[in-house]
Amino acid sequence: MRTVILALTDELRRLRAAGVKTVSMSDESLGTLRRLARTREAGEGTLDPGEGERPAVTGEVQEAGLRPPVSRLREPAARPPPADTSGLPPPPVVALPAGDKAVRWQALRELVLNHPVCRAHVGPGKQVVFGVGSLEAKIMFVGEAPGADEEDQGEPFVGPAGQLLTKMILAMGLARKEVYIGNIMNWRPELARRPDGRQIGNREPTAGEMAFCLPFLTAQIEVVDPAVVVALGATAARGLLGHHSFRNLGDVRGRWHEWRGRPLRVTYHPSYLLRKEADGRDAANRAKRIAWEDFLAVMERGGLTISPKQRNYFL
Ligand code: URA
Repeated sequence: MRTVILALTDELRRLRAAGVKTVSMSDESLGTLRRLARTREAGEGTLDPGEGERPAVTGEVQEAGLRPPVSRLREPAARPPPADTSGLPPPPVVALPAGDKAVRWQALRELVLNHPVCRAHVGPGKQVVFGVGSLEAKIMFVGEAPGADEEDQGEPFVGPAGQLLTKMILAMGLARKEVYIGNIMNWRPELARRPDGRQIGNREPTAGEMAFCLPFLTAQIEVVDPAVVVALGATAARGLLGHHSFRNLGDVRGRWHEWRGRPLRVTYHPSYLLRKEADGRDAANRAKRIAWEDFLAVMERGGLTISPKQRNYFL
């Protein structure tokens, strides 16, 4: 057992060092981890205390309806960006035609959706993902990167995390189409695909990937010109504020930042809030309340009226 565990932890360490945040795992490996967890709960056996945060287990594990180990699920802390092995060209220079917002946005959208680099990174039948929403939005949400649902539908935040984000937008008294939603990256960060072409699991974008896509996001922010930008999670915050600007998400959330002259708020990623549900309703609601306080601050800054009921959500 110990040999298997050491081999597993070594492999997870190697993946973490290579920047991988999520891994799929066979039932056998999962069973081994489960047995270890039971042994540990019973007070036997040890795991190397230097393990730190491991890639979150997703994909087949979630698809099989199994809960990933709760202690591994943390909102990612800022750390040096994953080694960049993407071999991408330098970030593109975005030049938009003169015209109103709609003209510039449409040109930008065409540019991104047809960009050869973006297209080269999406699998067969999958889509490059560009921002959606109102060009008059006062509030713009920025996420990390498309996942499986997003690359299928070509729209950001349409999977489970997106559904929670949509609910939180509704709780603000807005419709999803009244805000603007974009991502740091325009394609799903690649992992090895199965023989049937499916990619299991997600990984954090590399610094090079984020740098490549950033001009596309910056141009969207400039075209839409929102009153407030909201970075959802540590990766979005690192993408906008810089990789080395903070250590933990807690260092930057709960206060205002300035991003190229406009107010920026950092809050938890909805996926983190969903993962918190594995810790029970109270823990999930506490995390949602913390995020909601950021949302309330964003509403105030965006000139929205806040009802007493809204003030008390998740309390
Ligand atoms: N998570 C993100 O950060 N962006 C999406 O579009 C979907 C999930």
